[in-house]
Amino acid sequence: MINLYGQEMNKLVNQMVELGQKPFRATQLFTWIYEKRAENFDEMTDISLKFREVLKEKYCLKLPSIYTKQVSSDGTVKLLVEFEDKAKVECVIMRYNYGCVACVSSQVGCNMGCSFCSSALLGKQRNLDAGEMVGEILVLNNVLREENKGQKITHVVVMGTGEPFDNYDNVMDFIRIINHPKALAIGARHITVSTCGLVEGIRKYAREGLQTNLAISLHAPNNEIRNKLMKINRAYPLEVLMPAVKEYEEIAGRRVTYEYLLLEGINDRKEDAEQLIELIKGTKGYVNLIPFNETNRNDYKRSSGNRVHNFLDYLMKGGVTATIRKEFGSDIDAACGQLKAKVENV
Ligand code: SAH
Repeated sequence: MINLYGQEMNKLVNQMVELGQKPFRATQLFTWIYEKRAENFDEMTDISLKFREVLKEKYCLKLPSIYTKQVSSDGTVKLLVEFEDKAKVECVIMRYNYGCVACVSSQVGCNMGCSFCSSALLGKQRNLDAGEMVGEILVLNNVLREENKGQKITHVVVMGTGEPFDNYDNVMDFIRIINHPKALAIGARHITVSTCGLVEGIRKYAREGLQTNLAISLHAPNNEIRNKLMKINRAYPLEVLMPAVKEYEEIAGRRVTYEYLLLEGINDRKEDAEQLIELIKGTKGYVNLIPFNETNRNDYKRSSGNRVHNFLDYLMKGGVTATIRKEFGSDIDAACGQLKAKVENV
């Protein structure tokens, strides 16, 4: 059975043509499942009974179920959703003044092995397919609908568990589906993919012709520190990563965001800021400083507020645009992978 939520428009058009149908069937199906939110084929009354039976044989409309739901005092909602095979991933709604941002997972577990990250603890169990990622958004939208405030997901960041470029094709299908005007119509500029630095993925993404955003989890100003924090840096050290970022900026015509997690005494010193300025000087990217969400699964400490502000100051004085990431849900196991790790007793 094919999950209809995982089919991007071009693929669905081809499938309809293969079934002897006109291409508009694909648009009709998108309208039914995304606009009218039909949950089964019998609701699709303008499709002949006969073809509905054909659809039922080939397709299903599968959504994950909500395994746990946490709501923070700041309105952040964090779900652990479960798929048919019992695999569970986290997804989150964060409320900004400009809209509701969904943070979605792209894999069950993660193989990248970053030493500070709870999602790395179990390694990768499997990739999510496009339909499962779309399912995360649809379930988050259902949660918003239940609140009755007329809100829906307006922005998406692929910053949950998993490395999106280690699941490249499914993530691209996911983006094309949620971006499609007949599906969720989430604007490309409202969609951000975050990578730990898989260079082939960055190069390919540059050539997708998408107006979506790219964030690079940099977290260190030199190879010595980055090797300790991020295993991936041994495969793609900074002298390989940074040219790929430049290439992306040139080809896609988009600026990147550098994510920089501040860890007390590890990467938050003045000399780290100075090296960081040098490192990213040739690119147009700006830095998003992330206060570390502490976990009892490693010994890293969050930099104090003072150190965070000093670091920001050093960067700004060095001509680098930087912001401090707003924090959400600090009372609900907000950091990547922590809710899942707790529920599954990792
Ligand atoms: N694999 C991708 C996307 C998932 S991680 C990537 O590496 O970018 C999303 C972001 O959360 C990354 O920048 C990651 O480094 C960061 N992160 C992981 N654990 C964290 C923690 N405990 N506190 C704050 N940020 C964390």
